[in-house]
Parts: sequence; C-alpha cells; structure tokens
Amino acid sequence: MTKLVASIVTVGEELLVGQVLDTNAAYLAAELTRLGIPVVRSWTVGDDKEAIRGALAESMRHGRLTVLTGGLGPTPDDVSREAAAALIESNLSVDTAVLAAIERRFALLGRDVPAGSERVASVPDGFDVLPNSRGTAPGLWYEADNGSIVVLLPGVPHEMRAIFSEHVVPRIRALSGRTVIAQRTLQTAGIGETTVQRQIDAISHLLDPDVVVAYLPRLHGVRIRLTVTGEEASDRLDAAERHVRAKLGTAVYGCDDDTLEGILGDLLKRRGLTVAVAESCTGGLVLHRLTNISGASSYVMGGIVAYSNVIKQHQLGVDGDTLKQFGAVSEPVAMQMADGVRARLGSDVGLSVTGIAGPSGGTEEKPVGTVWLGYADDHDTRAVKHQFGRDRRRNKDKSAIAAMNFMRQILLQS
Ligand code: AMP
Ligand code: MG
Repeated sequence: MTKLVASIVTVGEELLVGQVLDTNAAYLAAELTRLGIPVVRSWTVGDDKEAIRGALAESMRHGRLTVLTGGLGPTPDDVSREAAAALIESNLSVDTAVLAAIERRFALLGRDVPAGSERVASVPDGFDVLPNSRGTAPGLWYEADNGSIVVLLPGVPHEMRAIFSEHVVPRIRALSGRTVIAQRTLQTAGIGETTVQRQIDAISHLLDPDVVVAYLPRLHGVRIRLTVTGEEASDRLDAAERHVRAKLGTAVYGCDDDTLEGILGDLLKRRGLTVAVAESCTGGLVLHRLTNISGASSYVMGGIVAYSNVIKQHQLGVDGDTLKQFGAVSEPVAMQMADGVRARLGSDVGLSVTGIAGPSGGTEEKPVGTVWLGYADDHDTRAVKHQFGRDRRRNKDKSAIAAMNFMRQILLQS
C-alpha cells in the first residue's frame, strides 16, 4: 500500500472571491502534519459539481487520503455530496438515522425542520456517516478497494473541527501506523528573528542533522518550528526541543497552541497571585487578552483604562507634578500607574502600560512607538522602555504582548 500522504480540497465560491479566508485548509494542514501525514496538495474550487468531482479525482492521484470541506449544506449551491457520488458512480439516498438526528436537533431547539434537510441527510452508497455533534450536516468517509480514502466535512469551521477531531483523527490513527514526521512550534516573546537564528546557529552542532528549523516571525516574537522526519521522529524532536529551550531560556514561553496569556495565567495561579492592570495606550487590550482565558477570574482583579492624564491622577493617584515634569509616557508615571492600580484594586501585582501609539503625537525625544511598561508588587516597583514602530494597531498589540511578557519574566526570576 502506498505511503499515507494527504491532499486537501476546500469548496466554496466565497473562498475564491476572497470574502472568507480559507482557515479550514490551514487547520487541516496543521492537524494532518501533526498526525505525521504530509500534505502534498491543497486545492480550492467553487460550488460546481464537475469542478469538485475533478478536484477529488485529481487529488486522489496525488495521495491516499483526501479531505474535502464545504458544500454539504441544505441549499442548492452545496453540491459536494453529489460530486462525491458521481466520483465513485454511486447513488445518493436518504439515511434515516441522519434524518432522525436532524429532526431531534430541531425539536430540541423548538424549531421546524428546515427545507433541504433530506439533502443534508443524503449519503452516497459506500460512504460511512461521521456524526456532527455541533450541527446538522454529518461528515462522510469513503475507503476505496485500493486503500484511497475520501473524507467530506462541512464548511462551517467549528463543525468541521469537531467531526475531524472526534471521528477522522481516530480513523486516521488506526491507518497510519508509525509516525513519520514529528513537528513542534516553540513560541517566543521579546526576541527578534535574527537573534533567535544566531542563537540556534550557535547550537547547531548539538542538533540532529535531520532537524529542520523554520523561523516564523510575528508581533514581538518568533515562532520556531522544528520538524523531524523518519525513524523515532518524536524522540529526536524532543531532544532538539531540549537543546533549543536550554539555549533560549525564558524567551520561550510555550509550544504549539500555548498563548502568552494562558501561560501567564498558569504562572499566576501556581504562585497564588492576583493582578490588576492600568492601561493607557493599549486601551484595555491587556485586560482583554488576560480575560480570554477561562478561569481568569481566579487571578485577574480588574483594571483601569486611564487614557487621559486626569484619569491617571484621579483614578490611579499619579502625581500631577510628575506628569508635568516627565510627561505621561515616562518611567516614573509607568511606575506610579502600576503602584496605583495595585493599591486601588487590592491585587498582589500591578501592571501598567503607557505609550505613544501613533501615528501622530511623537516628539524628537519621545518618538511614536515609545512605550513604558510598569510592574509593581510587594517588594519592588520597576519599569522598562520599548521602542516600537509607527503603526497604531501593531503598537497596541506589541505593547500588550510586551507587558504580559514583562510580568512573566519578572515572575520567573522571583
Ligand atoms: P458550506 O458548508 O459550504 O455551506 O459552508 C458554510 C460556511 O462555512 C461558509 O459560508 C463559510 O462562511 C464557512 N466556510 C466554508 N468553507 C470554509 C473554509 N475553507 N474556511 C473557512 N470558512 C469556511
Ligand atoms: Mg458553501
């Protein structure tokens, strides 16, 4: 049997006209790679039966596994089922169990069963049904005599992901046997691409020669993707990861789907600490990100968005003379903001951000992108300066990341 490699077909006019970003292809490519199955092709086609059939046929020539998303809905423009039936020259018929599940679902919602449900419940002969725990259209799985596999999944991203992880992954695991690729992405913050690259070059003699390192810069950090192929890939990957982490130290905050706010939350919970945030130029973004984590209520006390100097004085207790003498974007003001929010909200740690987001408002001494971050706890108050660029949104995002990373680094040292 040929080696298990995969192709992806995404269906929908909305993808071809650039109205909807093809996040399904990105998700599937990442998940398949993680499962050790190389993705060799990815196609996007419109809502056209012949185009879909053609893409499936072509895709099956390139790999043993084809995963398609989209075109399984109730409306006449959804024709992936018909295309799949045509591909293997089989008939479509209503699956009574699927139809009953759809009827139950709408009964629970107290709504009439929508028109087109018979179409959604139609299954080409030879396909297995993969139940949809999040919606109506089930996934469909076909395995040809020669071992080729075609999987059809709905286009709605959260439904597609649910069916993929609940039903497709276990079936693929059963097929694929041993891992041929192992991949992991280390997440860093506060370090640039060239610095990371130089540091990794310096340990290249320690790394397995088959480890492929990719650098993927993003706002205020770099993702380092490590890929190992072949025998014992996952052990060799673990070894490579240990070397990279040892070299980069606390610049690495996590791997794969870890987020800075999630990691920071774990750290605060472990230490039994609470935090409050005083924000100027980020306008609440730090608090927004911290509270994206479920369970944040156990360590986030709250925050004060002190955009104007009046609010900095009245709500945070920043000293008027200090504001006059040093300006709002300054070391002493960042420290007073952190102290102030900590005192007023009664948290263990106070974090603050004050900066010039731009694009206007810079001066010679304090150009656009100047940002001061403050930190205060029981023992210590300190501040650090960053110089970012000219783009307002990017400056806000970078400031929020830098603030969370500043706190993380201090907590790790203490
Ligand atoms: P469909 O199952 O084709 O009716 O798709 C339903 C909805 O899911 C579409 O209107 C899109 O908003 C979304 N969708 C479909 N395909 C994709 C895709 N490849 N990536 C992201 N969203 C998608
Ligand atoms: Mg569609």
